[in-house]
Amino acid sequence: MHRITFPAGATARSAAYAADGKTIFVHLSDTAINVWDVLCYYWPELLGGVCGLVLIVCTLLIRRTLARKRLVGEPHCRRCNYCLKGAAGPRCTECGHAIRRPVIGRPMWRRVLPKFAPVLMIGAAYGWLWAAKTPRSGYVGHWFHWWSPDLHAWSTTAGLAWLTARGQAVDRVIEFDAQSGRTLRTLYTQRYQSSPMEIAITPDGRGLLIPLQENNRLAIIDIASGRVLQTLQPPQGMPAGCWQQVAGFDPRRQLTFVVAGDGTRLVSRLLAWNTQTGESSLLREVSFPGLSAYARVAPMAVPRFYRIPHASPDCFLQTPGPEHSITFGARPAIVTIGGGVQTLDDARWGKFLRSRGEPLIAIGGEWVYLASSFGVVAYDSGSGRLVSGLPIPFGHVVREASGLDASRRWLVVNTSTPAGRMHFVIADLGRGQWIGQFNLPKQWSECRSSSIAPDATSLAALGTKQTPSGSGAELVIFDMKSLPHDDERGWGPRVIWRNE
Ligand SMILES: [Zn+2]
Repeated sequence: MHRITFPAGATARSAAYAADGKTIFVHLSDTAINVWDVLCYYWPELLGGVCGLVLIVCTLLIRRTLARKRLVGEPHCRRCNYCLKGAAGPRCTECGHAIRRPVIGRPMWRRVLPKFAPVLMIGAAYGWLWAAKTPRSGYVGHWFHWWSPDLHAWSTTAGLAWLTARGQAVDRVIEFDAQSGRTLRTLYTQRYQSSPMEIAITPDGRGLLIPLQENNRLAIIDIASGRVLQTLQPPQGMPAGCWQQVAGFDPRRQLTFVVAGDGTRLVSRLLAWNTQTGESSLLREVSFPGLSAYARVAPMAVPRFYRIPHASPDCFLQTPGPEHSITFGARPAIVTIGGGVQTLDDARWGKFLRSRGEPLIAIGGEWVYLASSFGVVAYDSGSGRLVSGLPIPFGHVVREASGLDASRRWLVVNTSTPAGRMHFVIADLGRGQWIGQFNLPKQWSECRSSSIAPDATSLAALGTKQTPSGSGAELVIFDMKSLPHDDERGWGPRVIWRNE
């Protein structure tokens, strides 16, 4: 297990594996210094210092000129300033320097005056800034973003309060090696934005989706260069602070599906965003007046959509929001765009099925997995029928379904035990059996994001830990190879029923 602790005060947002499963991207909120903003903020001191330096340099130059007196119109040696009037031969008679291009003497005022120019110019600029009452912080400080979290960390350690005070809340996406846990680089930094959206990787593995700081927009960041490739404008009339989430991709048609939830107007929209043209179209709009009271306190609790891969026409799993069935008895449903709505069957098992967390959908789109207080149940995504269930091992309480690998062999569920400790319990779906567990660090108070690598070699979790000195963010990476794999050591209950 690798355990990566982020600087104190950092908040874990979300994490996503790269398409090849070799690296992990972590979205973190912490503090950084914008070096350009510091330069702008301390302009009176900095520019004053520059003025002083220029003044010293110019004074020295002028002193040197005054000391090197020359006769007007006469040639002088370039090296030793000796007057060469009437001198014969190719070299200075004083120092022996070649006199091909001697200096012709000019009046002293013409020699001194140009050396005053830099002092006058920079002094005038400085004086003008003062006269215009230029503030220390203004829009100029946002012209450039030269973020440095290390500078902030260093100034905090060094006790430089004047520099630490310039720290700003930022969002960073950091890339880690999944095998060694090593930090590789910071992919992207921006000013803090409050959207709870989780980052996502595009199916071609080249882009990373993140909500932008400005105007409720989403962006695709180029993973190779860290630059913004495309941005998605929010739908018309959507106020800032709406909840957004990637609902899936259709790589063939270059579509990214996004859910935009508006807790104020009580609607949730499903949008298809064409990443070639940047245009988006509305696929479905659901109002949720039944959830109004809840949505106002928890705007994230709006209906969500999850694309069912390879379905044609486009199919989505629509859930009324987290914790929905506990509070409202609403059921998840399969929604076909331009077609019908198929509520997931619960006739027989309804009493067990209080969904927890987000659903997991098989890569091929055939199955939908929902975690419940009972365990994990699988539905046929075509018919909406309940297919099978895997009860959770004794002593564990389901928090949410956490991950499914690409080959649909491993299923990971985040659980807690009555002692308050969090775990990942892992099922081998091929054998229909739980095969082991990983323990999350004791100090963790929540697990913000977790997923299994696409190549199923590792399992990553991003969480918040509580220590006496405050809360912080932590990333843990488990090696899937360290789980028991032989049949003898199967653990926990087997599938107790199949809904044939
Ligand atoms: Zn000379």
